[in-house]
Amino acid sequence: MDDKKPELSAASKGNLRPKNFKKNPIIGTKFTIAISSAKGGVGKSTFATNLALALKKIGLKVGLLDADIYGPSIPKMFGIDDKPKSDGQKLEPITKYDIQCMSIGFLTDQQTPMIWRGPMVTSAIKTFTQKVSWKDLDFLIVDMPPGTGDTQLTFSQEIKMDGAIIVSTPQEVALLDVKRGIKMFDKLGVKILGLIDNMSFFNGDDGKRYKIFGDGGVKKTAEEFNKEFLGEIPISPEVGRCGDEGKPIVEADAENEISKIYLELAKKIKSTYL
Ligand code: ADP
Repeated sequence: MDDKKPELSAASKGNLRPKNFKKNPIIGTKFTIAISSAKGGVGKSTFATNLALALKKIGLKVGLLDADIYGPSIPKMFGIDDKPKSDGQKLEPITKYDIQCMSIGFLTDQQTPMIWRGPMVTSAIKTFTQKVSWKDLDFLIVDMPPGTGDTQLTFSQEIKMDGAIIVSTPQEVALLDVKRGIKMFDKLGVKILGLIDNMSFFNGDDGKRYKIFGDGGVKKTAEEFNKEFLGEIPISPEVGRCGDEGKPIVEADAENEISKIYLELAKKIKSTYL
């Protein structure tokens, strides 16, 4: 037996990574935070864009990486039509609203579906994490694709992730997937900063609060898994409109009640890391 072979940790035996395997930091940023949702359509990209803008508004340098290769949203939500420049070695992020942005959507025709197999997705993620010249960022916010697939694995196993926030609506069907998402990050050793309940209620003109997708499910799930509950974001037509117009609500109207929720959250994240 060759006793010089690196020892394998229990968690890494499955993928044969040595115990002292070092995850790559993303050059140019202090902290990398994933915004994840187990299910699509719960407002993950809306959350990622607005959180990035809120962190900027409190004076931090922020990047936004759209890692949703099959369904990139950042070009639309930030109203970016340009192509990133390259010096032959590295891609330059496109800066909008003082946020350094990168998305596969900048490189492809927006209406062409990405028909890629897993290894191509992995390779695109590696390009975005190793070959983009992010500059002096405090935080890189990563908009993950929904689910627990190749992108999550590549990030969690190979890249130094400093935290993850899981976004969900309170519906049972979304929560089931959230539980899978929590277990995935726990298993891969990525710290979950907490869970957000997006589109949790709607304040009607009649003064009543309508719990359209159910009540308290995200908070209950957070408690069940001993994770922090980071709060509720109501449904607001403004949020959708601003996203569609390429200027997310935090940038369009910092005084809006939803923008204030994002700003509070940004302060909390800042005080956690800096
Ligand atoms: P995901 O990234 O999870 O697929 P998106 O961020 O694209 O979800 O959001 C899905 C839709 O829901 C978008 O049309 C978005 O504008 C809308 N949306 C997200 N959050 C809210 C909210 N708090 N209020 C109203 N609409 C919202």
